[in-house]
Amino acid sequence: MTKPPTQNYGKASGPLLSIKQDFFTKNDEMLAEQLRLGQVYTAQDFRTDCKCCGQPIEGVDFVKQGIGYILCPTCSHLNGAHDDSAAFCAAVYTDDSGKQYATHYEASDKVAYDDRVRDIYVPKAEFLLGALEKDGQNPLELAYADFGAGSGYFISALMNQGAKHAAGFEVSQAQVDLARAVNSNVEMTRHDLDETAPLASSTRADVVSLIGVLEHLQRPREFLQAVSQNTAVTYLFLSVPLFSPCVFLEMVFPKIMQRQLTGGHTHLFTEASLDWMRDEFGFEKTAEWWFGTDMVDLFRMVQVSMEKSTDTKGMTENWVGAFGPVIDALQLELDKRHLSSEVHQLWRIRR
Ligand SMILES: [Zn+2]
Repeated sequence: MTKPPTQNYGKASGPLLSIKQDFFTKNDEMLAEQLRLGQVYTAQDFRTDCKCCGQPIEGVDFVKQGIGYILCPTCSHLNGAHDDSAAFCAAVYTDDSGKQYATHYEASDKVAYDDRVRDIYVPKAEFLLGALEKDGQNPLELAYADFGAGSGYFISALMNQGAKHAAGFEVSQAQVDLARAVNSNVEMTRHDLDETAPLASSTRADVVSLIGVLEHLQRPREFLQAVSQNTAVTYLFLSVPLFSPCVFLEMVFPKIMQRQLTGGHTHLFTEASLDWMRDEFGFEKTAEWWFGTDMVDLFRMVQVSMEKSTDTKGMTENWVGAFGPVIDALQLELDKRHLSSEVHQLWRIRR
């Protein structure tokens, strides 16, 4: 009988809140940039097949920031109504050597970089290494290949935890340069967008990871197929954004910068669509960690909205004082019901 997957729930929001202060202080300019990218997106052709299962989709279920969205009748995946064409991906990820995209993640100095690794990425690495150990592996001896590695945060975290072989792959030269500047020990390879699947086919790593990356790939199905057919690879570790309560908040707070379904996130997984994809490509789930930031988003959306109006600005501190302390407890209830804005899962290839 197969072992039930390891399940974790919840994560404290404090470190995230301190890293994401821009979300509170630069609302209007960040929102304007999202609307600009949305115009690039809606200029692309209409999508005819589901990004997750590949089956036909049609009609529009709702519109947000001027973009139509369709729930797939086959697998329940949430699809943007347009294709994320090569031109769109280039506009979002690689134009200007990725500098524009890197600004969302950039840590301008070593201290900020190390804080980010410690607060955001070490917990992910600990979860992964612990889950691999429970699955009978010696995780520090395995080789890791992190795709969409950005500035190398996750491979730095793996190395901090004692992993001996971790390498990152990234399309943005600016991100790779930052990784090398801040951490001279990291092994990073820059590659073109169309080399992503071939690299997944040829890597000799035991564990391939995609932290907030699968949703950004132009052809995620091709990538999963490449990994599942690579006999060197045993595990896929991924974190993906989900169609969660946060998206409903975004529908009703159109003046507030959106985080979940906007910009490079042109489609979102559901628990069922993720199950579909895992089954189709021959993986089984060995561990999962549900934690989201829906309640941080609600907190921010109300706070920023109140500050925008002279009628309500004076009550902002009251809101922060009342809601701030209950964010984590409320989010944990969503997480336990698999209603998080994000999930981490460890998949093992069925052999
Ligand atoms: Zn589908």
